[in-house]
Amino acid sequence: MKVSIIGAGNVGATAAMKIASEGFVKELVLLDVKEGVAEGKAMDIIQSLMMGESETIVTGTTGDYSKTANSDVIVITSGVPRKPGMTREELVGVNSKVMTMVLDGATKYSPDAIYVVVSNPMDTMTQMVVNYLGVENANRVIGMGGALDSARFKYNIFMKVRENNYLKPHNIRDCWVIGGHGDTTMIPMTNKVTVLGKPLTDYLTKEEIDEVVEATMKGGATLTKMLGTSAWEAPAQGITETVKAIAWNENEDMCASVYHPEYGLCIGDIVSISKEGWEGPIDIDYIADYIGKFEESVEAIRKVNAAL
Ligand code: NAD
Repeated sequence: MKVSIIGAGNVGATAAMKIASEGFVKELVLLDVKEGVAEGKAMDIIQSLMMGESETIVTGTTGDYSKTANSDVIVITSGVPRKPGMTREELVGVNSKVMTMVLDGATKYSPDAIYVVVSNPMDTMTQMVVNYLGVENANRVIGMGGALDSARFKYNIFMKVRENNYLKPHNIRDCWVIGGHGDTTMIPMTNKVTVLGKPLTDYLTKEEIDEVVEATMKGGATLTKMLGTSAWEAPAQGITETVKAIAWNENEDMCASVYHPEYGLCIGDIVSISKEGWEGPIDIDYIADYIGKFEESVEAIRKVNAAL
């Protein structure tokens, strides 16, 4: 399998390192516009592999899309990250221009690839890829953001519940965050979560659950304030898990931003990811309790999309 990652910045290069070190990809290409950066990061990564078992060949290129030819998966992380105090939505102007350049280059050489979109505002950037490839190819376009938000949701539950209980992360299940990948548009579905098979309300008070939801929704902003730029380790893990679900044809249920024909846009939902892309979403009744919030989120994304 060949994977190309566009954008060799914090998120792209970290995802490259994680994917390459797991060794499930034969060839990995990093591409960036900054002269020599992708080549340097690729060299650094492949040198680190010499100390392990992975046989992934990692190369880098400054803007030469022919090096990405025949990729099975193209991951798009290029563009500008937010700074403290910014929303993801404020990046739409600059990142949509980057996205157009990237799509012109990447689709020319890998028209049949699965596209994993990471750049923000992610739902809108995912929509751009769907618009570019055509809705008939929407199942090959996966926005990565819900996987990260779901991990942050799980983290916030884990940290609170383990104050009074001995607990491991895998004891917490069904931490789904649907809706938009934005501070006000994401929807952590608290009533689906189980802790050791029991509902979250058996472990946390309503106030504590509200705190978990708020911390999850502000999760990216909290890290951006601490780091001075947006986070990259957990986002890169979200990319890795998505690419792995494709590579291993796992039919893995994950939160991802996907095209909803009934709304005419991409929004986060629970879908099954495999080598064909995504299938689903999961039974609409599963999110029935949250449909009002989901539709508010749809309208918020629609407004950002209007800026394209
Ligand atoms: P970064 O600044 O570290 O890296 C971005 C890279 O993109 C830079 O190296 C830059 O040179 C490159 N780039 C810019 N224009 C390009 C072009 N036309 N072609 C190729 N490469 C180009 O930023 P980062 O922290 O890696 O974040 C990247 C993007 O991912 C941002 O938009 C950020 O908001 C987003 N992000 C999304 C999630 C998510 O969950 N979806 C999580 C974290 C970050």
